[in-house]
Amino acid sequence: MTKALKIIIVGGGVAGLSVANALASKGYKAIVLEKAKQSGEVDRGDVLHHSSMELIKKWGLTDEFLKYNPKVFHDFKILNNDGKLIFDFNLKKLTQPTFFTVLRHKEIEIFLESSALKTGLIEIKRSETCKELIVENDIVLGVKTQHYAYYADLTIIANGAKSKFVNQYFKSTSFFEYSLSFYNGCYKLVSEYDNCGYYVLGNKGNMILVALPNNEMRIGIQFKKRQGISKLDLFKIIKNRLTNFPIEKLEFLDGHIYSITNSICPEWWINGAVLVGDAAHTVHPAGGQGMNLAFSDADTFVTILDKYYETEGLDRICDRYSKLRKKEVEKVLKKTHILGTLGEIQHPIYCLIREKLLELCNNFLFLKQIIFKRIVNVE
Ligand SMILES: Cc1cc2nc3c(=O)[nH]c(=O)nc-3n(C[C@H](O)[C@H](O)[C@H](O)COP(=O)(O)OP(=O)(O)OC[C@H]3O[C@@H](n4cnc5c(N)ncnc54)[C@H](O)[C@@H]3O)c2cc1C
Repeated sequence: MTKALKIIIVGGGVAGLSVANALASKGYKAIVLEKAKQSGEVDRGDVLHHSSMELIKKWGLTDEFLKYNPKVFHDFKILNNDGKLIFDFNLKKLTQPTFFTVLRHKEIEIFLESSALKTGLIEIKRSETCKELIVENDIVLGVKTQHYAYYADLTIIANGAKSKFVNQYFKSTSFFEYSLSFYNGCYKLVSEYDNCGYYVLGNKGNMILVALPNNEMRIGIQFKKRQGISKLDLFKIIKNRLTNFPIEKLEFLDGHIYSITNSICPEWWINGAVLVGDAAHTVHPAGGQGMNLAFSDADTFVTILDKYYETEGLDRICDRYSKLRKKEVEKVLKKTHILGTLGEIQHPIYCLIREKLLELCNNFLFLKQIIFKRIVNVE
């Protein structure tokens, strides 16, 4: 049964589209306003944890998702710059075995968008840039784009990190900028690196390698912001960071730079509007949590909305959601900050100590279980 609540979602990235699907699964209609002409214009996280897969199932979208042929893997390895294995773990070794699911970010967005449209409850308007919120008597009544004014009972703000609406209408967020940025590149798959996630750690610099579906792979290079990076240098850097990498097999497809931040907005809702996804929080990509947080924000908000819709006002509902989620996100923020900071170590002596500690830790299954339980949030 369709529920009569007018909802506008600002931003059609993973967070906005996840809310749209979660809403539709409970019979709510919504309009998504997205400034980009096409989905997936920005390529970002590709790794989904089992918690997001559970939500995809809960929203009734598993069959649709599988049509995109995601890759599933259980193995994670840390190598040093010479390619020596210093740490490995198989997610099947957890008491509650789990897995990582990988699909290119663009395709995750396309999947979420087409699934939302198929419900018949979600309308997605592209090339609609939200310019300002419509506010009267301190209540958000909707949003103005370059074309129209859209009025709604609730405006869900999902327009990503450094959202101008957050600073303008909510309490402004302070961002912690890490000293390293990320060059997120996509390449043709080099078969030696299939079916496993790799993290390269060493004093020559860090790198992640993950096989993607469709014979592609992601190579993320962390580099010092002030030094910059040029596309011409990429192959040299990859070879330098992983000396036994068969660089002659590598074929560049595309890529771009992200600066890495962590932040959490002090206030997640105001009268008539609520934040989800990177608009509310950003975390270091170590541990691949950002998208998974967006999925969980979406589900938590809609679950609370649906539970209390008949009995409580929207403000109370938004307050319940933000209290619950903020606590969870703060925990993830701490975990990813520790992982990110450990990854930033570049002094040769500290790098050697880190390598030795990882090698030592690699001998103790129970230690590895504790670390991974925390990363993927399972028992
Ligand atoms: C290098 C890197 C690697 C990552 N790896 C992972 C990973 O492996 N796993 C993981 O879970 N997460 C990962 N993440 C994080 C993850 O990609 C983000 O947390 C997630 O995409 C956030 O989704 P979002 O919808 O909140 O924001 P976004 O993806 O930024 O989407 C916001 C949307 O709002 C639109 N928009 C912006 N302003 C307006 C406006 N004024 N009007 C209308 N529309 C607007 C934008 O066009 C965009 O489509 C990674 C991030 C980085 C930087």
